[in-house]
Amino acid sequence: MRGEAISGPRPVRSDARPVHVIWMTSGLGCDGDTVSMTAATNPSLEDLLRGALPGIPPVIIYNPFFAYETGEAFMRAWGDAAAGKLDPFVLVVEGAIPNEEVNGDGHWAAFGIDPATGQPITTCTWIDRLAPRAAAVLALGTCAAYGGIPAMRNNPTGAMGLRDYLGWDWVSRLELPIVNLPGCPAQPDNITETLLCLVLHLIGMGPPIELDEQGRPRRIFGRTVHESCDRVGFAEQGRFAQSLGEPGCLVKLGCKGPVVKCNVPIRGWVNGIGGCPNVGGVCMACTMPGFPDKYMPFAENISLVTLYTNAARFTYGPVLRYFRERTIRRKYDVEPPWRRRAAELSSGYRRSW
Ligand code: SF4
Ligand code: SF4
Ligand code: SF4
Repeated sequence: MRGEAISGPRPVRSDARPVHVIWMTSGLGCDGDTVSMTAATNPSLEDLLRGALPGIPPVIIYNPFFAYETGEAFMRAWGDAAAGKLDPFVLVVEGAIPNEEVNGDGHWAAFGIDPATGQPITTCTWIDRLAPRAAAVLALGTCAAYGGIPAMRNNPTGAMGLRDYLGWDWVSRLELPIVNLPGCPAQPDNITETLLCLVLHLIGMGPPIELDEQGRPRRIFGRTVHESCDRVGFAEQGRFAQSLGEPGCLVKLGCKGPVVKCNVPIRGWVNGIGGCPNVGGVCMACTMPGFPDKYMPFAENISLVTLYTNAARFTYGPVLRYFRERTIRRKYDVEPPWRRRAAELSSGYRRSW
């Protein structure tokens, strides 16, 4: 998908070189992150492609899902990138990486045909060709970041995240570590925002993305779901939903929000709307490195939850609720006393003349 020239003055310097985004969807995954990005609004995909944001260069995204080109015409960019003719480019990998060295005969993931052999080119081969040429690398979605669903226990593919494949200390030729952007799928605005930050950094207009110890953007993954959830007030006062659809904190129904790093409750899903527990769904921990194995079964609560909920329900929760409701009723949910008809002014106002 290519950004088109738009009429009128553009904020982009006339000498600005395009930044290319080579987006592989051929890992073990479902293309859900590509679909997710189409819902982005802040910034939107169109904002990126059309240079609608001040200072950004033309951005060209090569993604099989969006492309008009097919066959050899589409594969040309991949060949050019591998040959060093596309510069700079961001390599986006979506889907888990199968370990083709140990997972038996044949292959699990491939993309394009090698003209010399007539055989499919495996995803691992593409990564080996492209990663050394890339200016920056983004592992998009939990599958690409940590292995995700394809890497569940007992899977036959040897699936793993991109950092597990290339090495956790791997850096691009510009010395940038792989950015992990987990989520199943990743939240739409998180995707476009991270791409924008990478592009701005590549053209010298922004700092590198600060990452945490799991390779995630610290700004996006600095808080737990619980810290941002709009049901946390219920939890504080010991009000827990017993079934789906009830008001109250969802922790007894299996919500993993207290131990999960994700900004979806505060950012919403599309244009600020939605966000798992905010709209009645338990958090299943889809952004976490141990997802899904460590959080199953999704609809059962984790250890110590019964202790926590009982403590909240039968000790400080009711006490908090009682005093808070009483204070609200007596002090804060009433008008100030001087706002009544009376024989004289009682608001405390003093005339100075
Ligand atoms: Fe699909 Fe989830 Fe994997 Fe993304 S992380 S490719 S949405 S299964
Ligand atoms: Fe925390 Fe989940 Fe309850 Fe929200 S619903 S307050 S995230 S436990
Ligand atoms: Fe995934 Fe939980 Fe975040 Fe929802 S709130 S996107 S289930 S980590």
